[in-house]
Parts: sequence; structure tokens; C-alpha cells
Amino acid sequence: MKKILIIEDEKSIAELERDYLEINGFQTEIVLTGDQGLQRALTHDFDLILLDVMLPNVDGFEICKKVRSVKDVPIILVTAKKEEIDKIRGLGLGADDYLVKPFSPNELVARVKAHLSRYERLMMRQKPESNEIYIRGLIIDNSSRRVFVNNQEVVFTTKEFDVLTFLASHPNQVFSKDHLFERIWGYDSAGDVSTVTVHIRKIREKIEHDPSNPDYIETVWGAGYRFKDN
Ligand code: CA
Repeated sequence: MKKILIIEDEKSIAELERDYLEINGFQTEIVLTGDQGLQRALTHDFDLILLDVMLPNVDGFEICKKVRSVKDVPIILVTAKKEEIDKIRGLGLGADDYLVKPFSPNELVARVKAHLSRYERLMMRQKPESNEIYIRGLIIDNSSRRVFVNNQEVVFTTKEFDVLTFLASHPNQVFSKDHLFERIWGYDSAGDVSTVTVHIRKIREKIEHDPSNPDYIETVWGAGYRFKDN
């Protein structure tokens, strides 16, 4: 369940926000002062922060700036003054969005949902660093050794997975059949380079939309194979 931190000193508004969000399946936590809100935002993980601008002790601008300097979590600033939006923009606080009081429950929930899904997509794209290769609808998860084509899991044999992962980890480089055979199977193993051809054909049948006209693994005549990343 997505967790949202509500920093708002007007209790009735905070509770209204909480009710709207909880009805829509979110978990919430309310903090009524700026300093406690900042502390909470910095020390705990939330999926989104709904942040009032006018707060006692530390205001929303300050909180936004400080949280943004260390976290990417989506922040929606809530202001009672429409005029303040230009100021907020001008300050370059790194807020993702603004809501002007009074706002409708639907508007609040729609904005929250939009920013959560945008953030999720952003995180997905950054995932390759964490052992995942993501190229045009093809996802290779190295840690679980699973492959997904257009969000559908496709089953790979060990060697097919090794060949695909090796090529995809070195995009745009050409590798000869001999090189691939040596790299994946090793000199000592039974079989010969024709094994490579067979495996490439099987991989293409699994990942390519049209295996005879491949988008991912290209044949470079007389040289070998190349994984195209664009
Ligand atoms: Ca306030």
C-alpha cells in the first residue's frame, strides 16, 4: 500500500485529505508542524508528500527544499493563496505539483495518483543499474534470471539466457560465433559453433516480433551477431 505523508497544521484540512486518500486505498500519516514534518520526511520513506506551505516553525518552502536535496519522493505543495504559485515556481524548490485550497477530493486524488505512477515509471527506468536490462519492451532480470517480452514472461534455457544476457550487456558490439561459443560454453565443452546458431535462432523466436527480420539480435554477415539497443 502506498504511504503518503501529510504535513498540514490545520487539523480539519489534514483529516479531510487523509479521508479522501484512505478511501482511495492509500495509507496516510499526519504531522501538524513544520519541524516534525521535516524530521519525519527525512527519516522515513514515503511514496509521496502532501505539503502545506504555511506551517509553524519551518514552512513548506524550506521543507520542500531540504527534502528535495536528499530524496526524489514526489512532493505536492498545498497553498491557500493562488498568487503564491508563481512564487513557488520561481523559487525552484523542486516541488512536483501545486494544489490551491480549497480543492476538490477528486482533484487531490487524481494528482496524487498521477505523481505516484510517474514516479514509478521513473524508478523502472532507473532499474537497469540494479541488475536489470530494459530495452524496448524487453526486460532481462539478471538477479532472478527471468526474461519478459512486453510484460509477458518467456522461459529461457540456461544457455539461451546466458547468450542473450551477454549480447545485451554489450550493445552494438559484434561478436563472432567462435567468441560466443568460447565465452558461453567454453573450449572444453562438447558441441561446436553451430550450437551458437541454434541458440540465436531459439532466442529470436522468443524475443523477436519477426524472427526473420530481427529488431534485437542482428546478424552481421561474415562477422557474427550484434545486439541493437536502439
Ligand atoms: Ca497552514
